Amino acid sequence: MTRTYGFDTLQIHAGARPDPATGARQVPIYQTTAYVFRDADHAAALFNLQEVGYIYSRLTNPTVSALQERIATLEGGVGAVCCASGHAAQIMALFPLMAPGRNVVASTRLYGGTVQQFTNTIRKFGWSAKFVDFDDLAALEAAVDGDTRAIFCESIANPGGYITDLPAVAAVADRAGVPLLVDNTSASPYLCRPIEHGATLVIHSTTKYLTGNGTVTGGAIVDSGRFDWSASGKFPALSAPEPAYHGLKFHETFGPLAYTFHGIAIGLRDLGMTMNPQAAHYTLLGIETLSLRMQRHVENAVKVATWLENDPRVDYVTYAGLPSSPWHHRVATVCPKGAGALFTFAVKGGYQACVRLVDSLELFSHVANLGDTRSLIIHSASTTHRQLTPEQQRAAGAAPEVVRVSIGIEDADDLIADLDQALAKATA
Ligand SMILES: *Cc1c(COP(=O)(O)O)cnc(C)c1O
Repeated sequence: MTRTYGFDTLQIHAGARPDPATGARQVPIYQTTAYVFRDADHAAALFNLQEVGYIYSRLTNPTVSALQERIATLEGGVGAVCCASGHAAQIMALFPLMAPGRNVVASTRLYGGTVQQFTNTIRKFGWSAKFVDFDDLAALEAAVDGDTRAIFCESIANPGGYITDLPAVAAVADRAGVPLLVDNTSASPYLCRPIEHGATLVIHSTTKYLTGNGTVTGGAIVDSGRFDWSASGKFPALSAPEPAYHGLKFHETFGPLAYTFHGIAIGLRDLGMTMNPQAAHYTLLGIETLSLRMQRHVENAVKVATWLENDPRVDYVTYAGLPSSPWHHRVATVCPKGAGALFTFAVKGGYQACVRLVDSLELFSHVANLGDTRSLIIHSASTTHRQLTPEQQRAAGAAPEVVRVSIGIEDADDLIADLDQALAKATA
């Protein structure tokens, strides 16, 4: 039977075959560090990248490989590399592209931790980031210079409420001849498939919706396989001879899989930001129900956001799923199955009222996480976005008077009742 399976089928079956040794139906947790070579020739072929196989779990592991294949399939990419966390995935994603003096042009609307990583930490490698409002396409185009090696944004941007015009941003990246990297964590491949809009690489914190229940940290980089790494001479890590592998050229040798092979053979080998097989197992289990959870997340988010918007104790709600949002019109093209379940709302009474609200909630958990089955809340300005300047906080959608919620899959009526009683205490 030749058939293109639907998303719900692929989220269960992609990457998972009955175990060749035992027939085990669920993907086993291959809790092993090393793999026995058939003989000396087999070992040599593996080390020369002439044969694909398992050597050592810092590079590859069968449980992690199954997850890589599943995420790549759901995103419509040719390959994926999993990492220890979403932040590890971001460094791993930039690593083959950047060099001292090179820069990444990034959206101002990003996860707070990413703003930190790009503002301060990557400077230690001699890389830098230029932050631009991606709604100003002329400014974006102007920010790209001869040293730019990547354009970076989030599809549905954390802390919620903003949707990037991916086709327009991809057109800018195309004209500039640089890859577009899209962090698709807040949307998940069920709601948004950035490669279909022109993304080169898709990045995930699998910690969030892909695992879905707040158990393990992880990250992934999916390659579209579509970028021509040899066209400009700007990406020597992928196009020029690699001394560590006897002068092998990744792009020439592996074609569309060049970036994925480089991520494993150089990135994981030398940076060691490896996902462990236990984490991969939890994430594989989580992904099996991704579409069902995302449907409920979105349904609940629409109900809660609508209720909040009509409540006099609330100043405004920034959820792109509401018709009042300035980015609502992008839902139909960028994330047609819904605008996610992450948004912020402003409480009348400002900073102090936000803090009281967070302390008064009973069902919502006050945590620095998102994408859990449970509903979560955080006051970004006093926590995750605390290190940013007030201007950066506002630009990132984390102004002092707003709280961010990640709406779970509980009964929407229970969530609304909890918010109702806490708003009463916060604004008393
Ligand atoms: C959480 C998150 C990250 C970082 O991922 P970790 O797994 O926590 O390292 C990056 N981007 C977005 C959008 C996130 O929500």
